[in-house]
Amino acid sequence: TTSAETLEFQSEARQLLQLMIHSIYSNKDTFLRELVSNASDALDKLRLEAFRDKELQVDTDDLHIEIDTDPEKRTLTVRDNGIGMSRDDVVALIGTIAKSGTAEFLKKLKETKDSAASQDLIGQFGIGFYASFMVADKVTLLTRRAGSDEGVRWESEGEGTYTIETVPDLPQGTSVVLHLKPEDAEDQLFDYTSATKIKQIVKKYSDFITWPIRMTEGEETATVNSMKALWARSSSDVTEDEYNEFYKHVAHDWNDPLETIRLQAEGTFEYQALLFLPGHAPLDLFMRERKRGVQLYVKRVFIMDDCEALMPEYLRFVKGVVDAQDLSLNVSREILQQDRQIQLIRRRLVKKVLSTVKTLMADENPYKYETFWKEFGRAVKEGLLDDHENRTAILDICSFASTNDPEKLTSLREYVERMKDGQEHIYYLTGESRQSIENSPHLEAFQAKGYEVLVLTDPIDEMWVDAVSGYEEKQFQSVAKGEVELDDDTTDEQKEEFSGLLTWLTTTLSEQVKEVRLSSRLTTSPACIVGDTNDVTPTLEKMYRAMGQ
Ligand code: ADP
Ligand code: MG
Repeated sequence: TTSAETLEFQSEARQLLQLMIHSIYSNKDTFLRELVSNASDALDKLRLEAFRDKELQVDTDDLHIEIDTDPEKRTLTVRDNGIGMSRDDVVALIGTIAKSGTAEFLKKLKETKDSAASQDLIGQFGIGFYASFMVADKVTLLTRRAGSDEGVRWESEGEGTYTIETVPDLPQGTSVVLHLKPEDAEDQLFDYTSATKIKQIVKKYSDFITWPIRMTEGEETATVNSMKALWARSSSDVTEDEYNEFYKHVAHDWNDPLETIRLQAEGTFEYQALLFLPGHAPLDLFMRERKRGVQLYVKRVFIMDDCEALMPEYLRFVKGVVDAQDLSLNVSREILQQDRQIQLIRRRLVKKVLSTVKTLMADENPYKYETFWKEFGRAVKEGLLDDHENRTAILDICSFASTNDPEKLTSLREYVERMKDGQEHIYYLTGESRQSIENSPHLEAFQAKGYEVLVLTDPIDEMWVDAVSGYEEKQFQSVAKGEVELDDDTTDEQKEEFSGLLTWLTTTLSEQVKEVRLSSRLTTSPACIVGDTNDVTPTLEKMYRAMGQ
C-alpha cells in the first residue's frame, strides 16, 4: 500500500468539473447513462482482451453491471467487473480530458452568455464520467485492472484536486460510488437512492446495453435491461427513442441524431448495420488526430471502435455499428483493410449514406438536409476528390451559394434547370468570401447576360473543381480563367482601334502579365486580370504559400 497522494486536475478538466458541479444541465438523470455506458465499454474491452490474450489471468464468467442504492448513506454505486484501470490509467483518463477540441469547446462555452445555448454546447461535447458531479458532491472510484494485483482508490469532490492511492484486495473492474448531494435529498425528482427511479432511468437510457444490468432489492436480484442488441431487432420493434439513446451511447453524444440508417444483408455474407448521421459536427472534424466513426462487432461481440476500413475519410462523421457474422473474432485493423468482404460492406454503407442524404434533400421539410450540409458539407466535398466511384452521387447531394439568390444555396440540379438557352457550362468563381467574389470584375459580363455563377468559398472547392469535369454533361468552368467564351462581341474595328494600346500595355507590363487582350467580359470595370486555364487560382496560391510550398 502506498500513501495517498493529492493531485491536481488538468486545467481543462477543472473547468469542466466546475460546470458540472454548478450544473446548468437540465437533465441530470443522464449521469447514469454515462456511468453505465462506461461500464459496458469496460466489459466489451475485457472480453476482447481475454479472447486475444489467452494467457491473461482474468475472470470472464459472469460479466455484468450492478447498481446499488443506499438511502441511509445517500450513496449510489455503479459496479462492473470489466477491464478496470491501472493507477496511470486513472490519472490519464479521469484526471485529464483526452478529447481533442476540448480547449476550443471551453473557449466557445466561455463566450456563450445564454444558458440555453451553453446547454446545447455541453450536449454536443458530452461530459462522460464528470457528469457524476451533477448529482454527487463526492465521488469515490475503486478499480483494478484485469490481470493486475494492484487496486486503486481515487476520490474527489470535483473542485481542483483528487486523491489517489494504491489499495489491496479489490475485485477486478471498477466501482463508482456517488455521494449524493444533500440539497437534492428533499426533491423527488432527484431521488437517486430510489430503486424504482433508478430502474426507470436504466430502462429509458440504457435498455439496449448488451450486458446484464442488475439490481438487488431485499433478497431478490433482477436484471433490469432487456439486453437486446438493437441492430439485431426488427426495426418495427424499436422505437425512435431507443435508437436515439443507442446513438448517444455509441457516439458519446448527448443530443439526438439527425437521421438513423438501417441496413441488413442476408445470404452468404450476413451483416447488420445501424448507422447515424449526427446533428452536429464533432469539434475534431478537421483536426489531424480526428477519429472515424463506426464500431465493428462480430456476432454481437464488440471488436473495435473507429473502424476505418468501414467508412471512407470523407464520411468520418457517420456513427454507429456494423455487426458481421462471418468474420473471425481475431481480425486486426490491417487484415480488415485487405478484406474483400469488408470492402463490399463499405461500398454498400457509403451508397446507403449518400442515398439517405439524397432522400433528406427531397424531403418537404428542408431542416434535416440543411443541417446536414451546414455541419458536414465541407467534409463531404472531400469525397469529390477521393471517391471516384460515387462522384455523381456526391455531386447530387452538394449545395452551393450562387448569384441566383444570396439567401439560398442551390443544388447542381437546380442550377442546371435554370441554365439559359445557349449556356453551355456551369460557371463558378472561387474566392475567400462571398463579398470578395461579388466585387470581382470577372462577374460583370456573366451577370449582364443573366448567367448564374456558383460562389465557392471553401478552400476544398479550389481542389475539386479542378478534379471533377462536370455534372450532367455540363462542364464546370471558372469565370476567372482563360478561354471563357461569351459570344465575342468585340468587333474588328475595335481590335484595330486598340491594337496600339494593347501592344504598349503588353510591353510595359511584360514582367507582370503574359498577355493583354481585348475582352467582352467586362461591362463597367476598365480592366481585369484573368488566369490562364491551367494556372493556379489566387486563393490556391495563397493556400500553397500558407502551407509553405
Ligand atoms: P468517454 O467514455 O467518452 O471516453 P468518459 O469521461 O466517460 O469519456 O470516460 C473517460 C475514460 O475513462 C474512458 O474512455 C475509459 O477509458 C475510462 N473509464 C471510465 N469508466 C471506466 C470503467 N468503468 N472501467 C474502465 N475504464 C473506465
Ligand atoms: Mg463515457
